[in-house]
Amino acid sequence: MASIRSKDTGPELAVRRMVHAMGFRYRLHVKALPGCPDIVLPRHRKVIFVHGCFWHAHGCAESRRTPASNKKFWKEKFARNKARDAKNLHALWRGGWQVLVIWECETKDAAQLRTRIAGFLAPTARAANYPLDEQHAVYGMVAEETEIEIKNKF
Ligand SMILES: [Zn+2]
Repeated sequence: MASIRSKDTGPELAVRRMVHAMGFRYRLHVKALPGCPDIVLPRHRKVIFVHGCFWHAHGCAESRRTPASNKKFWKEKFARNKARDAKNLHALWRGGWQVLVIWECETKDAAQLRTRIAGFLAPTARAANYPLDEQHAVYGMVAEETEIEIKNKF
């Protein structure tokens, strides 16, 4: 049966290619994990989601185009999607996984994307040391912090 979700989208392929080029090996769409993460690095206990801005209701300019008809239906659907994403994120954290969420709109700047991925995959990524309730605020900043660490090191 064909999947409703498009799994080989441009943004996801771009991320995969970068992770691969950095020398990491991964598994794709692991159903056994909460939210079926797009990219899973079991040895490093890290997962990456590449979220479509529309379906995951990013709130960015591109995602703010709720279909004109059935507004209530879409609003509820987006709210459900968001709640489900948050639930999956927490379940992964509780399981000891580090999670990077990359939004579709963030994949357009290749240099920035590469920096973020490298930061997340660096062994020194600091998110691992943050308690659960602080991770949410922190994981988006990991790349920036790690980039500074890397710069200081080399
Ligand atoms: Zn977006």
